[in-house]
Amino acid sequence: MQLLEERIRRDGIVREGNVLKVDSFLNHQIDVELLNEIGKEFLRLFGDEGVNKILTIEASGIGIACVAAQYFKVPVVFAKKAASKNISGDTYTSCVHSFTKDKYYDIMVSKDFLGEGDRVLVIDDFLAKGAALLGLTDIIKQSGAELVGAGIVIEKAFQDGGKKIRDMGIRVESLARVASMSPEGGVVFA
Ligand code: 5GP
Repeated sequence: MQLLEERIRRDGIVREGNVLKVDSFLNHQIDVELLNEIGKEFLRLFGDEGVNKILTIEASGIGIACVAAQYFKVPVVFAKKAASKNISGDTYTSCVHSFTKDKYYDIMVSKDFLGEGDRVLVIDDFLAKGAALLGLTDIIKQSGAELVGAGIVIEKAFQDGGKKIRDMGIRVESLARVASMSPEGGVVFA
């Protein structure tokens, strides 16, 4: 997606440790006009799939998913990050390793909001090593819902998450694919 690539090139900041900061338009301050274009693009890609629910993960996926959901006209469910002791039997849960924080946490979704008969599109801001997406995939599997695919805003294609998830037969559509990046050279797209 041209507009998104231009924005990443202009305002993205590459940090040591393979982290791309997009705080000025996606992860802290949010450019809603840009999110609208992202939402339309996800609709173009997944609009024929009979999606009736969008699933994401807190916190940064929520805004993106909500704007996209206005085009799909479906509700958004977001997986909550939780301390294990807070988890009750009424939830689907999975354990996820955070790429940016390098720690493990549980994610949970209430059984009230996901189940058999649902056709689910997963939306998230980044795909790096695939842990967040694998956790959400696990929750969808537990619920008996069907995973239509994953819509990702920025895929760091030099990390192995995309390959891992696609090798599982899951459709992954990323609007910007970063082939390589460095603090000196900036971002190169695939
Ligand atoms: P994964 O689970 O695929 O390794 O990483 C995906 C999650 O980690 C995303 O939900 C995102 O919040 C975070 N993440 C991974 N890489 C980056 C990055 O380069 N920049 C930012 N801002 N977040 C990232």
